[in-house]
Amino acid sequence: MNILLVGPPGAGKGTQAKKMVEKYNIPQISTGDLLREAIANKTELGMEAKKYMDAGNLVPDLLVEGLVKERLSKDDAKNGFILDGYPRNLEQVKAITDILNSLNKKLEYVITLDVADELIVERITGRRTSKKTGKIYHIKYNPPVDEKEEDLIQRQDDTEEVVTQRLKTYHSQTAPIINHYRKEGIVYDIDAVGTLDEVFERIEKVLN
Ligand code: ADP
Ligand code: AMP
Repeated sequence: MNILLVGPPGAGKGTQAKKMVEKYNIPQISTGDLLREAIANKTELGMEAKKYMDAGNLVPDLLVEGLVKERLSKDDAKNGFILDGYPRNLEQVKAITDILNSLNKKLEYVITLDVADELIVERITGRRTSKKTGKIYHIKYNPPVDEKEEDLIQRQDDTEEVVTQRLKTYHSQTAPIINHYRKEGIVYDIDAVGTLDEVFERIEKVLN
């Protein structure tokens, strides 16, 4: 299954992708995670990307394209993948189409996770991630059982100010890609308000 998850920041893409990885045994390819890894490793690409991420803007297309191409070419993506956060504008739609063509693959499901902007700020500012396991938590909606067990961190761009800009970027640049895929008849709209399990059940219905 070749899947793309689309939705505003905080819609639950990472959370649902991790559940899908477990059930369907295909990798999650998150450009946000790949970029944060590059920053943690202090690579040149990471240092360049950080400026854009801290401001809530998209990182230049060419920087992200290379990361995705390399990751999609790995062996574990040969039976399917979950793209999380890429493509994020119409230029990147062209790029991913070319990358997938060159690998003899194509997208089969574009799943949108729909959440109103009003709910996003609370989801984003309450997000915590375990440094040790990469698990995604929320201080209210999905708290860890034992906080001391997990080395929780808050993302630097998860502030109210930056998320406001990330939402603007989403609506102006990313949301238009959905219409592109609608014309191909592969878009499935999911209501992403509900418990984590309720949202996952809606996704399972589409994929089963
Ligand atoms: P994205 O990858 O789309 O940015 P995440 O999966 O990281 O979003 O989720 C953002 C925050 O919202 C996290 O703190 C997560 O625990 C929380 N969250 C995810 N899904 C739900 C949900 N259905 N209801 C409430 N909170 C949720
Ligand atoms: P995310 O983890 O998906 O919320 O992404 C965090 C940040 O990484 C975004 O606000 C962008 O600055 C950057 N980013 C992630 N994916 C992309 C992409 N496909 N194109 C450009 N920038 C991206």
